[in-house]
Amino acid sequence: MAFYSEEQTTEDYLFKIVLVGDSAVGKSNLLARFARDEFYPNSKSTIGVEFQTQKMEINGKEIKAQIWDTAGQERFRAVTSAYYRGAVGALLVYDISRRQTFANISRWLNELHTHSDMNVVTILVGNKSDLKDAREVSTAEGKGLAEAEGLFFIETSALDSSNVAAAFQTVVREIYNILSRKVM
Ligand code: GDP
Repeated sequence: MAFYSEEQTTEDYLFKIVLVGDSAVGKSNLLARFARDEFYPNSKSTIGVEFQTQKMEINGKEIKAQIWDTAGQERFRAVTSAYYRGAVGALLVYDISRRQTFANISRWLNELHTHSDMNVVTILVGNKSDLKDAREVSTAEGKGLAEAEGLFFIETSALDSSNVAAAFQTVVREIYNILSRKVM
């Protein structure tokens, strides 16, 4: 059930993208950095599901990415199906300085597959790449898991902005490419 909503003209697209992963891996900060170029040193207190719509340009076309963030609702299963419904892209996020968050990725991937289209374009994101001395998950391990599961892969830092835009753009570009092939 794809959520490719064409508004007004054929050149205007809205893609729903979800942020998925353990608490405190940096999902909200990736979105804050990407959408507003902001960073919050302390965890937010927001409760609920939030989304932000970010305009992007791919191949000269304007795309609106509607990016959803659980905002602390990871454990509230009642919101799960609504959260994933219609998503065409996902950022599956772990914290390179906490191995357990990487170990839990397969669980998040299962949840994603259970609640959304199997074709949802997914990127595995190793966040907090700035925490070099505290690293517990190597780049090679992240890459290896992504290859095994057929996911894109990138390491990011919401703190120093490294690769944050690239993570979102990779997903949006691939969704756009798939859609272009379907339309043609
Ligand atoms: P969420 O629960 O997954 O949405 O995680 P948050 O965005 O609330 O971040 C959890 C904590 O990690 C906060 O204290 C953030 O400031 C911190 N954080 C998020 N991203 C980074 C990052 O790239 N580097 C570092 N060093 N800290 C980060």
